[in-house]
Amino acid sequence: GHNNAPDYLKGLNPEQRLAVETTEGPVLVLAGAGTGKTRVLTTRIAHILATGKAFPSQILAVTFTNKAAREMKQRIGILIGEGNVEGMPWLGTFHSIGVKLLRRHAELAGLRSDFTILDTDDVVRLIKQLIQAEGLDDKRWPAKQFAQMIDGWKNKGQGPADIAEGDARSFANGKGRELYKAYQERLQTLNACDFGDLLCHPIRIFRANPDVLKDYHRRFKYILVDEYQDTNTAQYMWLRLLAQRPEGKPISPLEGEMSGRTEGGASRRQAGGAPPPSVGSADISPSRGEIGRSSAEGRATVNICCVGDDDQSIYGWRGAEVDNILRFDKDFPGATIIRLERNYRSTAHILGAASHLIAHNEGRFGKTLFTDRNDPEDGKVNVHAAWDSEEEARAIGETIEAYQRQKHNLNDMAILVRASFQMRAFEDRFITLGLNYRVIGGPRFYERMEIRDALAFFRVVANGGDDLAFERIVNVPKRGLGEATIRQIHDTARALRIPMLEAAANLAESDELKPKPRAALREVSANFERWQKALETTPHTELAETILEESGYTDMWKNDRSAEAPGRLENLKELVRSMEEYESLRSFLEHVALVMDAEQNAGLDAVSIMTLHSAKGLEFETVFLPGWEEGLFPHQRALDEGGRSGLEEERRLAYVGLTRAKKNLHIWFVSNRLIHGLWQSTIPSRFLEELPNSHVEIAEAGNSYGGYGNPYGGGSFAAGRGGGQGAGRQNPYGASRFDNVGADTEKSGAFSNTYSTPGWQRAQANRTEATDRN
Ligand code: ATP
Ligand code: MG
Repeated sequence: GHNNAPDYLKGLNPEQRLAVETTEGPVLVLAGAGTGKTRVLTTRIAHILATGKAFPSQILAVTFTNKAAREMKQRIGILIGEGNVEGMPWLGTFHSIGVKLLRRHAELAGLRSDFTILDTDDVVRLIKQLIQAEGLDDKRWPAKQFAQMIDGWKNKGQGPADIAEGDARSFANGKGRELYKAYQERLQTLNACDFGDLLCHPIRIFRANPDVLKDYHRRFKYILVDEYQDTNTAQYMWLRLLAQRPEGKPISPLEGEMSGRTEGGASRRQAGGAPPPSVGSADISPSRGEIGRSSAEGRATVNICCVGDDDQSIYGWRGAEVDNILRFDKDFPGATIIRLERNYRSTAHILGAASHLIAHNEGRFGKTLFTDRNDPEDGKVNVHAAWDSEEEARAIGETIEAYQRQKHNLNDMAILVRASFQMRAFEDRFITLGLNYRVIGGPRFYERMEIRDALAFFRVVANGGDDLAFERIVNVPKRGLGEATIRQIHDTARALRIPMLEAAANLAESDELKPKPRAALREVSANFERWQKALETTPHTELAETILEESGYTDMWKNDRSAEAPGRLENLKELVRSMEEYESLRSFLEHVALVMDAEQNAGLDAVSIMTLHSAKGLEFETVFLPGWEEGLFPHQRALDEGGRSGLEEERRLAYVGLTRAKKNLHIWFVSNRLIHGLWQSTIPSRFLEELPNSHVEIAEAGNSYGGYGNPYGGGSFAAGRGGGQGAGRQNPYGASRFDNVGADTEKSGAFSNTYSTPGWQRAQANRTEATDRN
């Protein structure tokens, strides 16, 4: 009965409660942001445990991040009382659960249980050896590129035998498949695996050993998956193997899997006109309904519950298949599909803005969201303009301080950036202000590998005695200086009590070394000698650029075809740009030393800085979204791709960003940004144009939060600075209410007076409030 329901169920709405209490059979919760999907999963685990349906060890729960797994464990503990949980469910990311499985059955994958997991660097080094062993030119066939190809195959669950002939032929004169095979064999001899193997090995083990799989079928009575929209094909296969109970049948191979995938998605989408009922049983597809049924006893129960939101699928670039969620009812016939429509997280303005934005995507499942929150105090979504990223950081810093004065915790505030290079300006600014911050989901700006490398070059130039820095970059980019040579430099330096740089110069002139390392050392010391001289004569930013170029460091990343390389180049440019703020290389390095020394502020009250990608699933009282400009967000790479899908994934990312905010949301764009090493006047993001007027307020400079004033005087962004902006820059998306920001602000008095433009009217006409057009 409702009245004597346990406490943990009482706060739930009827649909949530249904999702929690429908413990048997397949359940899909498909719902928008902030509707309580994660809360449903957590409560469901608590419910299963509290009602004695299963022991903790019989529950398998997959989260998207380790952090989410920790939080879920905590919350389960709170819900049912720590003492009541004996042991814990198998709760973690696909990878962490994969490790656990593989350690148990390593021998079935030809490994020992103490296998090592290689990181990306190890993998690339290993592949390079293999390429060279094949007698191939590793410059023409870069190991990094092949590592990416392998990763792509593994995301699809494909071993060397599974990949299509043509897919592998493009690499290494048609030897791609052989190389992949050689790589797997090499891993085996090393008793090692890579990240992709953590999924692929278990898949293979399950397929080849039905008895093992059967054990897990018996073990895992309940399976739960969060963020289902971002599972890739391998994760999907893994899950399907564990969730299928094909009693009396051989385990169906998943090879035919990919055919008909889109069919499920497409037919769903056509149903878009009339949204399916909120709660109900999905149509059962007879043709492919085999899975999950046992012929003898009717349907075998598959107690799987997946929750997700197709609008938050943001990992397509890493192989995620949003169709997995759209075809759930085909995979698990008889699935109960539950929609949650009430958003508990955000104000009506935030929700309205987000829903309106995402409605610009096509091919959506379509859903309605509403909120009961209707506090007239709730402010609209604020859009602000700044001159450049420094001013943006300064203004956001001041807004944060203003919130602090109103007794808001820093823990409740987050800055979500599109690209990691954007973090630098905020970190610098917050250090100056003494504002605690933490960077989540990645190293802080100055701790990034490429930044540390670049700084090491600069440090040696500024201080020839900085041995630590010298050692870091003496063989970067690779110049064939092995450990033996470096040891020799060390020994010489110690014996003569001189810096390593000097010792290297000495060795370069002696005949103690073989010709190759000697030539390399000669080049290194000549380089540093030249740069040290230039330090007196050349402006330091210019010198910094020269150093990165002449050392071959920039080229190293330009030739690198890994997914991270473009981001690293962006970071390097941002580093050089930020040096402009300092008088000399030395004062810049001093600043960096201070920033590096700042604590990471764990446990303390601190503002969070992270990328939009790592913000998925999180929520904050106050959210800042800087950098909403064309080319940054949507990102240039997505625009260059052409087509709809890249842009739509960017829009989903924007939707994720907007929906992280509970109460206050501030979006920023700047008029000038350094892009590809050049100052450019920017065009406000098209996503701004897609926000509805009724929920958005364009903040007037000098008149916002807690007395933040435009340091350049109200509405004078254009005056006295640069002057060239706006000249000839046309917004290709038609006239916009943001057009004149930063160009004409003197005349129009900040951002007013722009509401009657055609672009704006179009947006008005399309407005459907918080309901999208499906
Ligand atoms: P996302 O799509 O962003 O991952 P979600 O659907 O997983 O969001 P949750 O994080 O589970 O949403 O919930 C959003 C917020 O709403 C949380 O603070 C949660 O505690 C709260 N919430 C969820 N359901 C209820 C409810 N029935 N009553 C009160 N608060 C709720
Ligand atoms: Mg969630």
